[in-house]
Amino acid sequence: MQTLLADVVAISPLTDHVHKVILKPQQPVSFEAGQYMQLVLGEKDKRAFSIASRPSQTDQIELHIGAAGADSYAMQALDHLRQAHTEQQQVNVEVGLGVSQLRVEGERPIILLAGGTGFSYAKSMADHLAEIGCERPVLFYWGVREQAALYAHDEMQAWANSNPHFQYIPVVENAPQSWTGKTGYVHKAVMEDIVSLEPYDIYMAGRFDMIGVVRDDFINHGAVREKMYADAFAFIK
Ligand SMILES: Cc1cc2nc3c(=O)[nH]c(=O)nc-3n(C[C@H](O)[C@H](O)[C@H](O)COP(=O)(O)OP(=O)(O)OC[C@H]3O[C@@H](n4cnc5c(N)ncnc54)[C@H](O)[C@@H]3O)c2cc1C
Repeated sequence: MQTLLADVVAISPLTDHVHKVILKPQQPVSFEAGQYMQLVLGEKDKRAFSIASRPSQTDQIELHIGAAGADSYAMQALDHLRQAHTEQQQVNVEVGLGVSQLRVEGERPIILLAGGTGFSYAKSMADHLAEIGCERPVLFYWGVREQAALYAHDEMQAWANSNPHFQYIPVVENAPQSWTGKTGYVHKAVMEDIVSLEPYDIYMAGRFDMIGVVRDDFINHGAVREKMYADAFAFIK
């Protein structure tokens, strides 16, 4: 783990509830794709956020923070970042945390499963896999409640077009009639598409209740527990 001071360079809206934050660390940052960082608000108050940027971007850290509700965990963190930005103060961060980072070795196909802002976790791995010229099949499923939450849809389509082994599958839970893609829960779409999950390395991020349901459903659908990665596992039963 690396402890750093960082400038808050920019905070911009991605949707009504999700904000992109760019931090510029005082020294080059070192982490693996799929790891997270903690924003230090106090000695015992540290807020976890996945790093959306890829490891080769050593001069910046990108975060996607979904913040709804005035006093929520994420909104408090965002307020802290906004204040530091306005006052041109640095923030304390701890980078390179988690055990669910991308395992680049091996031949197994990969599923990246993101619920909502869990996108951030999967995005870092997707970009890293493109950068290293990965030839394993990679299926990137992104589930959102409303279509407007697909804030990086065009970027993901371009990512999928960059490599014949990559596929991007957006899944809108409450889709309008004009939506021609997949609907419902994102992990159900995976199970409709794939007969058995046994061959796959599966990386996932989303709400804790989602991750609990997905873990159980995927194991029933053939997934190997040791090949399923989610930092949320450490927080749920
Ligand atoms: C280590 C760590 C890192 C984190 N990093 C971030 C971060 O970078 N940014 C951030 O905002 N939060 C982060 N969190 C908090 C947490 O991951 C988010 O609360 C979660 O990703 C937010 O999802 P959402 O509200 O956008 O999803 P929602 O909009 O609630 O859901 C999106 C989709 O997820 C699926 N889904 C949701 N609930 C269920 C369910 N019960 N059953 C099945 N499927 C379901 C559906 O497909 C749904 O359409 C982190 C937490 C931890 C522990």
